[in-house]
Amino acid sequence: MKLLSLLPLLCTFALPSAAQQIKPNKYGLTVITTRQQYSQLVKADSNQQLINLETFIPGIRKDVRYATTNNFTRQRLYNGAGIYLRLPAAKALRKIQEALQRKGYGLLIYDAYRPYHVTEAMFKIKPNDLYAADPRKGSGHNRGVAVDLSMVHLKTGKPVAMPTDFDDFTFKAHEQYQPGDPIVTANRKLLRDTMKQYGFKGSRTEWWHYYLPDYKKYPIMDMEM
Ligand SMILES: [Zn+2]
Repeated sequence: MKLLSLLPLLCTFALPSAAQQIKPNKYGLTVITTRQQYSQLVKADSNQQLINLETFIPGIRKDVRYATTNNFTRQRLYNGAGIYLRLPAAKALRKIQEALQRKGYGLLIYDAYRPYHVTEAMFKIKPNDLYAADPRKGSGHNRGVAVDLSMVHLKTGKPVAMPTDFDDFTFKAHEQYQPGDPIVTANRKLLRDTMKQYGFKGSRTEWWHYYLPDYKKYPIMDMEM
């Protein structure tokens, strides 16, 4: 009788560390791979929920290149083209969309949450962390708190001019690059300033990549949404 009454207590303690009970993968990373693990995680902390940005953020646009062959690997890496982020990242992005809309712009998402096996596939094709995260570390995308994005003109829906196309891994995509066209500089700055204002950090080498600095709170996931 005594043992039985202890059980619920044990479970309560186990829940917040749901992720810690999972056996680490070959690189020592804890990866959430099943619906059950995911729902345990969300039950313990609602911020772990992956949110569908298309229903959560009015007017958001997407061009998910990894769901097509138009990407650096020339292969279709995603089955679906859904765009998901953890709740705090989704909330911040919703505010960013509102702020940009007041200035005549809107968000264009290239990529958001990315299942871990896709990072592994990318690294197999291009074994260089210039292109995608090293699977030994995983990425903010695998954790659901990194996003690749640009802006569109609200009136036309057309992408604004930026220093390069998405996934152009040259110096022109770097933060230090000074575009010749002041409009390009202004677009990049507006995106960067607005993202920073709502808590995202930018990349020094990819103008389109942003992430939440507390990404370690969110375990790596390998589940199709
Ligand atoms: Zn990225």
